[in-house]
Formats: sequence, structure tokens, C-alpha cells
Amino acid sequence: MQIIENAVAGKRYVSSSTRRVPVFNPATGEQSAELPLSTLDELNAAVENAKKAQIAWGNTTPMKRARVMFKFKALLDQYADDLAREISKEHGKVHDDALGEVARGIDCVDFACGIPHLLKGEFSRNVGPSIDSYSDRQPLGVVAGITPFNFPAMVPMWMYPAAIACGNAFILKPSERDPSAPMLAWNLFMEAGLPEGILNVVHGDKEMVDGILDHPDIKAVSFVGSTPIAEYVYQRGTKAGKRVQALGGAKNHMIIMPDADLDQAADALMGAGYGSAGERCMAISVAVPVGKDTADALVAKLKPRVESLKIGPATDKDAEMGPVVTKMHRDKIVGYIDSGVEQGAKLVVDGRGFKLQGYENGYYVGGTLFDNVEPEMKIYKEEIFGPVLSVVRRDSFQDAVDLIHGHEYANGTAIFTRDGDAAREFADKIEVGMVGINVPIPVPVAYHSFGGWKRSLFGDHSIYGPEGIHFYTRLKTVTTRWPAGIKGGAEFSFPSVK
Ligand code: NAD
Repeated sequence: MQIIENAVAGKRYVSSSTRRVPVFNPATGEQSAELPLSTLDELNAAVENAKKAQIAWGNTTPMKRARVMFKFKALLDQYADDLAREISKEHGKVHDDALGEVARGIDCVDFACGIPHLLKGEFSRNVGPSIDSYSDRQPLGVVAGITPFNFPAMVPMWMYPAAIACGNAFILKPSERDPSAPMLAWNLFMEAGLPEGILNVVHGDKEMVDGILDHPDIKAVSFVGSTPIAEYVYQRGTKAGKRVQALGGAKNHMIIMPDADLDQAADALMGAGYGSAGERCMAISVAVPVGKDTADALVAKLKPRVESLKIGPATDKDAEMGPVVTKMHRDKIVGYIDSGVEQGAKLVVDGRGFKLQGYENGYYVGGTLFDNVEPEMKIYKEEIFGPVLSVVRRDSFQDAVDLIHGHEYANGTAIFTRDGDAAREFADKIEVGMVGINVPIPVPVAYHSFGGWKRSLFGDHSIYGPEGIHFYTRLKTVTTRWPAGIKGGAEFSFPSVK
């Protein structure tokens, strides 16, 4: 049985921990590896080493750091297919989807290649007599990232390329469910010439997360995962004096206006609702058609599409959607579908009984569609994170907007319409962090930043892009007087421009 290793100080090793958890292949239900849950001593050793390594790395010129990034990017391009296979093996998503994930991760490395420009400060000459002032963004030291299962390669790359390009050392704690993809990426980064100790991977569970949050030498923590854990991480991390950005869960709504092209909207809902088996924080899980006719027509278009979804393992080139990540998660999703039925939603397509021949032990759930879902139902209130789309009917644009505003999550949202007035008002007024106009999954590109509002993000910084650079650096402003010999006598009043 393969044992998943840690990677610290440039070397891979097997943790001495006696606490171990299995890693499964969701397509078959077979165990593929064993993951030791590392000890706090191992974390401490990693941080100690990273702290030393960071001093030289933080003083390396940004151009040299960028060169390592360029090589890393070239290797990621070269090994994208292998990385995608590692993702699929433990996550279950289909190969093309995994390749898409890798591509979006590479975009973040691409962005980090521009670090010399991104770190440029500002300069003002003559802010006082012979006095100049400049600002500079400096690395924090050792920083950490704690990541979820659903994007095992991309979400870590939302974090460490920017952090490392800024001159920090990084401790990554990946999800226990699919730890292999981040290990392959680590190999490639080392091959690209990253100095030892700058990227470290330490596997673990809550005990490791708490160790990271409490460690006095870890200066900032990026977290992506579910909302209860995000809130916990934010509170514990900030209490320990750290800078924390903690991205949480979602319930993303898509409004379909009566003037929308309904075939286009239905296709968009299929990709956004069922792609990656709905295990995306930007998945659309609620469709909000405006008006009875729109709703009836939309449901009629969705039903055959959901019924004919091609479900299979990642190795099946025709599959549009794979299994969900674990047996426990599959059972939880089935429990949500049960509750929707019990609470009176209309089950249009039922994915509960889905079985795939030859893969009877895999964690599959068929595409599921509910109509007439109401806001007080559990399937509306909670994030299901599975291939389950709920249709909530509303009578007007304003009712649809009010519905969205009533939800605790505010990660992403979309509107499908040909009415420019409605589109502009939606973009302008909706209280959600990422908005799509005729775009169902509006994930910002790598040179913008990603982040929800309300209980989808705890902290002041969105992730990656310009906000990522700000998160992983701190501002210093230097005021200088030259020639040094200028004498004006003691000045007791507060310095001001005269
Ligand atoms: P999760 O919250 O269970 O786990 C995330 C990380 O937290 C993992 O590394 C895990 O080891 C750790 N963790 C789990 N339980 C913990 C505990 N009790 N104390 C401390 N740490 C703990 O999330 P998941 O199931 O891996 O991922 C799915 C969730 O992530 C969904 O809610 C999804 O919406 C969210 N997500 C959000 C975004 C975003 O950008 N907002 C992106 C991807 C995923």
C-alpha cells in the first residue's frame, strides 16, 4: 500500500505518526493509499527549517524568483496530464475537468511570474525639504495554506505561487482525501530549482490545522474549505495574531429572466450544476426562473438533459461527471435528497439509485433535479456539494434578488438575460462577491482576485491576483533626507508641510 509522504526541507519522508487514514479511489471504492496524520513535532521542524530558508529567499532578487516560477510553469505545462490523472484518481472528477483545474492553477503561476512588477512600490520626491519617500512591500516570513478536497492542485496554487514569489516560505496542509496531486506539484517545483525549505507539505487533520493556527512563527494563514471550519480558522488564527483569509462554502443562485435564451441557460445550468458532480464552490445549485412560463419551460428543458447525463469514471472519455469524493459524502447527498422529498419539494429527476456497471462500489450519485423548492427547506438552506440542482420559482426580478439576499452565503451568482437594464442593475446591486452576466461560473481570472461576501469569506483579503500579493506582503514606507548634514534645529511640533 502506498504511503503518502510529507515534503520538508527539500526532502520527502514518511511521517512517524501512528495515526493514519485511508485514501480511496472514488471511482471504484478501493483504497489507493494510506495517509499518516503528521505530528506537531514534524510541523515544528518544518517551520523551523522554513524560517531559516526564508531569509535567503526573501533577499533573492524578484527577477531570480521569477525565473524559478517560469521553470515551474513550463514543467506544469509538460506534466499537466499526469497531474490531472493524480487529481482524478483520488477526487474522481473526469479527466478534462481535472485538466481544466490544472490550467487554472497554472494561470496563478503565470501571474506570479510577473512578481518584479507586482512588488514595485511608489516613490515621491521632495515630500519635504530634501526629503523623499518610498513604499515597499516586504514578505511576511513563513506563511501557511490549508486546502479542501475539491481542487487539490488549483486551490493550493491560488496560494503558494504568489506567497513564494513574494519571498515567503510556505507550509501547505492539503486535504486528507486527495493528497497526491500537491505532492507531484511539489516535485515539479523542486525540479524547477526552488531552494529547499521554501515549499513544504505537511499532511494532517484538525490537530495539524490547530498546530498551524497556534504556531508563533507562522505569520499568515490562507484557508479554503467549508464555512464552519473557515469561521473557526479565522477566529483562532486572528486570536493568535495572524493575518487570516478564510474562504468558505456557497449556495450560488442563477436567475433566468423571461427574455433569456432558455437553451443557452439550460446548457449553462448543466455545466455549472453537474460539472465535477457539483463539488465546486462556484457550482450553481439554485436556479431561479422568473415567471411561471419561464420556470415551466426551463424545467422541461432541464429534465431530459439531467436524465441523459453521462456518468462514469475519469478513465471514460465520454463521461461528463464522475463519482463524488467519499462514501460518506455520497450518503450525505442522498440524505439531502431524502429530506427534499420529505419537505415537499418536487423531485423531477432522482439520482439516488444510480449504479454503474463494473463500478458498483464507486461513490456515484445520479444527476438530481428538484422543482418547487422553498427557502425554508434544508436542501435550499444548506450547501449540498453534490449533483443536485434546486429550482426556486420567483415572480419578478426583485423577488429573485431578495431571495439571493436572504441567503447566508454570497460566493458567486449569475443572471441570464438579454435585458441590459436588468443585467446592469443586478451587477450593481447584488450583494455577492462574484457575479456572472450570461456567464454561469464567474471565477475571476488569475490577474483579478477571487472571493465571496458574507459567510463565504472571513477576512479582509480575497485570494490570488493583486489581493494575494497584498495578503502575503506588508507595506513599509521609508522617508529619507539627503544630504544628511542639513541642520534645522530641534523641531517640537508635529512634522507638517510648511
Ligand atoms: P473542509 O472544511 O471539510 O476541509 C477543508 C480543510 O479543513 C481540510 O484541509 C481539512 O483537513 C481541514 N479540516 C476539516 N475539519 C476540520 C476541523 N474540524 N478543524 C480544523 N480543520 C479541519 O472542506 P472540504 O470538504 O474539504 O471542501 C469542501 C468545502 O470547501 C465546501 O464547503 C466548498 O464550498 C468549500 N470551498 C470553498 C471555496 C471558496 O473559494 N470559497 C473553494 C473550494 C471549496
